[in-house]
Amino acid sequence: MPIAENLKKIKSSLPPHVALVAVSKTKSNPDILEAYTAGQRIFGENKIQEMTRKWSDLPKDIEWHMIGHVQSNKVKYMAPFVSLVHGVDSLKLLKEINKQAGKQKRNIPCLLQIHIAEEESKFGFNEKELLQMVHSGIFKTLEHITIKGLMGMATFTDDETQIRKEFKNLKSVYQKLKETLKHMTILSMGMSGDYKIAIEEGSTMVRIGSSIFGVRT
Ligand SMILES: *Cc1c(COP(=O)(O)O)cnc(C)c1O
Repeated sequence: MPIAENLKKIKSSLPPHVALVAVSKTKSNPDILEAYTAGQRIFGENKIQEMTRKWSDLPKDIEWHMIGHVQSNKVKYMAPFVSLVHGVDSLKLLKEINKQAGKQKRNIPCLLQIHIAEEESKFGFNEKELLQMVHSGIFKTLEHITIKGLMGMATFTDDETQIRKEFKNLKSVYQKLKETLKHMTILSMGMSGDYKIAIEEGSTMVRIGSSIFGVRT
């Protein structure tokens, strides 16, 4: 039962204030159920259709987190059930989540994704854009979403100094925004390869896939 064992080992290494999202993208229902039976309740997916299929097949007390890039036209499929959207990277997307949450008579918790990596490919707001948007007061008009925190991904590199610097940067933006956005409690940073550094730099939520479920093929 390597999944249950991996999970147990990782959980016992996390400080109590750090939540674990088990990233189950591409993994089968039996694999997810093995983690569920071992006590895991939060799972992260990066494709809305795959997450929706798993939500309908699997136990209803699972909290599903959307951790991937979200296309606005697919928000409606996850609006009835998603627990947290990590990758909100535009105001247009936030408005669409607000609209679809309203239709479901729900409030959907969201994290704003910040671009911290050097790589061009990673999505997210930059610090300046974000501060402007927050100070514009636009969030107050979006009644069906709550900004619960920030999410970021470090550069994919072996250079620990680089990774640490990027996480420190994300933490400092988080501290600044917390003064204005009162519901911010979540700093989602850290994956299999860098979660220990992320926790040292202030992460409150780690997203771990391959160290639990094995490498994705
Ligand atoms: C896939 C993914 C993860 C998990 O990656 P691992 O290296 O397998 O732990 C975390 N966050 C995001 C946004 C991902 O897409």
